[in-house]
Amino acid sequence: MPSYTAPVEDMLFLFEKLRDNKKYNELEKYKEVSSDLVKDILEEAAKINQNLILPLAKIGDENPAVLENGVVRTPPGYKEAYQKYIEDGWTSLSCDPKYGGQGMPKTVSAFFDEMLSSASLSFKLYSELSIGAYNCINHHASEEIKNRYLPKIVEGKWSGTMCLTEPVCGTDLGLLKTKAEKQSDGTYKLSGQKIFITSGDQDLTENIIHLVIARATDSPAGTKGISLFLVPKFAVNEDGSVGPRNGVSTGSIESKMGIKGSATCVLNFDGATGYMIGKKDKGLSAMFTMMNLERIVVGIQGLGISEIAYQNSLAYAKERKQGKTNNTKSSNGADLIIEHADIRRSLLNMKSIIEGERALCFWLSQQTEVSLNHPNEKVRQEASDFVSLMTPVVKSLFTDLGMEITNDAMQIHGPDHPDSSRPVHPHTHPPGHCKSSFSIIFRTIFKHFCQKFGLGSKKSTCLMKIKVVALDK
Ligand SMILES: Cc1cc2nc3c(=O)[nH]c(=O)nc-3n(C[C@H](O)[C@H](O)[C@H](O)COP(=O)(O)OP(=O)(O)OC[C@H]3O[C@@H](n4cnc5c(N)ncnc54)[C@H](O)[C@@H]3O)c2cc1C
Repeated sequence: MPSYTAPVEDMLFLFEKLRDNKKYNELEKYKEVSSDLVKDILEEAAKINQNLILPLAKIGDENPAVLENGVVRTPPGYKEAYQKYIEDGWTSLSCDPKYGGQGMPKTVSAFFDEMLSSASLSFKLYSELSIGAYNCINHHASEEIKNRYLPKIVEGKWSGTMCLTEPVCGTDLGLLKTKAEKQSDGTYKLSGQKIFITSGDQDLTENIIHLVIARATDSPAGTKGISLFLVPKFAVNEDGSVGPRNGVSTGSIESKMGIKGSATCVLNFDGATGYMIGKKDKGLSAMFTMMNLERIVVGIQGLGISEIAYQNSLAYAKERKQGKTNNTKSSNGADLIIEHADIRRSLLNMKSIIEGERALCFWLSQQTEVSLNHPNEKVRQEASDFVSLMTPVVKSLFTDLGMEITNDAMQIHGPDHPDSSRPVHPHTHPPGHCKSSFSIIFRTIFKHFCQKFGLGSKKSTCLMKIKVVALDK
């Protein structure tokens, strides 16, 4: 099993050194968030991630989520861990105190997101979309809907999903087919199929609140006819209690590489009751509130996976002995692989990318808070422009670099190491080669070169002769 130590010190360093941002400091609501408070939060966050959540990564990988008689069962241990997770209030970290949240800034919740992504991404995904749904409902729904749904989502007793993708539409959402038929009481009946829905069903929460994009029967084709609907798995009574089952069912769990503990579902809507959120035909822009925050969190997933991959590669490179380094002083035995220049280069590359990403993410989190909460509209707009520019950058760059870093981590572990796929499994294919293959190829070419040009077979004399030949030429 991989090990993980949350980088609390590095996170606190950023919080203290980069927090002196003028516009961010002008936000009244975060004036009391001191370094001491953040230190306490991060230390507690480190404990739950290292002790309770980390083991769930391996368990989820070996015992994927399953669909049994129409009900999704999460891997063993997930239920108990989720119970503790919500009891300790981790779902509510950055939510509004008005709905039971702790009101922490995104600068702090982003650190927590990173730790959770490192510890177990599959487990994380069961609450990740809840926060996205919380943000979307909070920004676009009526007071009545907010008061009825948000406290339970913040508490973690209900979860949220984001239902966009369909068999006919992925990137191009204008093609969507899910229909919403208006009823005489103002609600809608939704019919259609959504695929690839993260945490579309699970056995962890009392209810699941699906945020679904669909086309009202009298709306135009394309993206201009898309509205957003809240569709609960179980109807919610006036007093907030959970009522009968709504017309949403799980067709299957998608088969995918990695994150097997996370149930990515096919959902069928058969006349399910839904409530419109925001304005008719403006659903896509409302959904963007959720998608944009989700994009940043997906970027942070790349960072979290990179961190655990780096930590385990570093530890392995300090204990594994193979081959001799160019500058070796030892006459017998092998050197630690961390002494090999290329392994050191890989590790330093990982470390510097991770630290840069964490700092950039902190900055983006600060600017997100400024864009949402600054009293001056011009300042809010400037920050919002920066966030719009950087959000796709963070999402794509961090996940692309996550691929590169986890691939390097697998190289360091060697392709056949039994644990090679563990810390890095969700995002990489087992490599067909490793760095040592390059070394062997290089040595073979070198040998043939030396033989061809009559330079002998000893490396040092050969190199001397090559230098002489090169100088002559
Ligand atoms: C693990 C996982 C979890 C997911 N969770 C959710 C979820 O919770 N909710 C949800 O709604 N969806 C979810 N999705 C679906 C995901 O959002 C879609 O896969 C994504 O939108 C892409 O759609 P697609 O797979 O149909 O690819 P397509 O849109 O069919 O694209 C196919 C290829 O064409 C390329 N392409 C498309 N358009 C262009 C263009 N204009 N220019 C250049 N290239 C283009 C794409 O980049 C891609 O390489 C999830 C997917 C996965 C794998």
